Amino acid sequence: MSTSDTPAHRIPDVSDLRPRSQLVHGGIRRSSFDETAEALYLTSGFVYGAAEEAEEAFRTDGLRHVYSRFRNPTAAMFEDRLASYEGAAWAYATTTGMAAVFAALMCHLKAGDRIVAPWGMFGSCLHIIKTIAPRYGVTPVLVDGPDLEQWRAALAEPTAMVFLETPSNPTLELVDLKAVCDLAHAAGALVVVDNAFATPVLQRPFESGADVVVYSATKHIDGQGRCLGGMILAADARYGAEVIHPFVRNTGPTISPFNAWVLLKGLETLELRVRAQTEAATAVARFLDGHPGIARTVYPMLDSHPQRALAERQMAGGGTMVSFEVAGGKAEAFRLMNALRMVLISNNLGDAKSLITHPATSTHARLTDEDKVRAGIRPGLIRLSVGLEDPLDIIDDLDRALKGM
Ligand SMILES: *Cc1c(COP(=O)(O)O)cnc(C)c1O
Repeated sequence: MSTSDTPAHRIPDVSDLRPRSQLVHGGIRRSSFDETAEALYLTSGFVYGAAEEAEEAFRTDGLRHVYSRFRNPTAAMFEDRLASYEGAAWAYATTTGMAAVFAALMCHLKAGDRIVAPWGMFGSCLHIIKTIAPRYGVTPVLVDGPDLEQWRAALAEPTAMVFLETPSNPTLELVDLKAVCDLAHAAGALVVVDNAFATPVLQRPFESGADVVVYSATKHIDGQGRCLGGMILAADARYGAEVIHPFVRNTGPTISPFNAWVLLKGLETLELRVRAQTEAATAVARFLDGHPGIARTVYPMLDSHPQRALAERQMAGGGTMVSFEVAGGKAEAFRLMNALRMVLISNNLGDAKSLITHPATSTHARLTDEDKVRAGIRPGLIRLSVGLEDPLDIIDDLDRALKGM
C-alpha cells in the first residue's frame, strides 16, 4: 500500500527477485530514517494534518493508513512479503491461524450453503465446520481426503466452498489439489487450502487452482515458538478487497504489529529452516520405518505411503512432520514419549525444537470417539515435529526411548 509521496527507494521493486530473495526483501517500506531492518510500527491509529485529509483517507479507502484494525505498516510488510513469495494478489495477517481459517470461511458462507471438507484436518478446523457452521445454516459434507470418488460424489451438487488441508494433521493423508480444485470449481465452490503443514516452501496451492490459502504463522513461519499469528491470502485481489477485507476490518481478527514484526523476520529464514527440517524429517522417517517397535510410519515421501506418487507431484519435499503408530496403544505411546530426553512433549509444531504429541489425548482430545475413528486418531498414534537439531541426536533420542520399551 504505497502512497504517492513515498520515495521509490523506500519501497524497492523486488518483483524480479527469485522467491528466496523475496523472503528477505519483499514487502519492505523504509521510513524516512532509511533503516536496514523493518520498522515496528507499534501504533493503533494515525494522524492527519487537517480534517480534509481524514475525509479524503476514508473516501479513498486503503490508500492511507487510518487504523491498525484495517491495516498497519508492519503488518502490511508481513502481508506483502508472504504474498510475493506465495504468488498471491492479496493478503491479510490475523491474530492466529484459527482466526484466519474462521474469517476465510465466514466471510464467504451464508445460510443454505454446503461446505465440503475432508475428515483429516486440524481439530479446531473440524470444530468450525462440523459444529459452528451448522448453527448458521451451513451444511457440512465430510469425505475421506484421499478418496477422489468421495469428492466427486460430494461435489456433484452445487457447493459454496471446499476447505482442505494437505498433508492432514496428524495422519499426513494427502488430497489431490489439482483434481479437487477442478471438481470444486465445476460445482461453483471457492477452494480454501490450509497450507500450514506443507508450508509455502514445499507446496504452492495457488498453482493447482486454490482461491484462498490460509496459514497458522504460529508454526513454521515463526518457527521458533515465540508468537501466534495467521494469514489469509487470495489469488484474486478483488475478492480479497471486496469479500475478505470488509469481514476482517469489521470483526477484528487483526494481528498485533509486534507479532507481525516477529513473523516478518521469521520469513527471512523460512526456506532454510523448512529445508533443513525436511531433510531431518526424511532421515527420522527412514529410521522409524520398519523399526521393530513401530507398527506403522507415515511420511509422504516414504515408499510405504499410499500416496507417494501424489506427494512427488504436488510437494517439493515431504515436510517437517512424521507420524507413527506404536503397537501397544496409549500406554506404550506415553512410555515412549516419557523416555525421550531431548525431544520435548508439546502440542505445538513447526518449531526449531523437535516436539512430540499424542493427538488422541491432546490436539484431537475433544473429538467424539466416532470422529476420532473417522479422522484416523488411534490411541497408539504419535506425531513428531522435527526441529533444527542435528538429525542424529533426534534419531539417537528415539532409538534410546524405543529400546527402553
Ligand atoms: C496450528 C494449526 C492451525 C491453527 O493455528 P493457530 O495459530 O494455533 O490458531 C490451523 N491449521 C493447522 C493445519 C494447524 O497446524
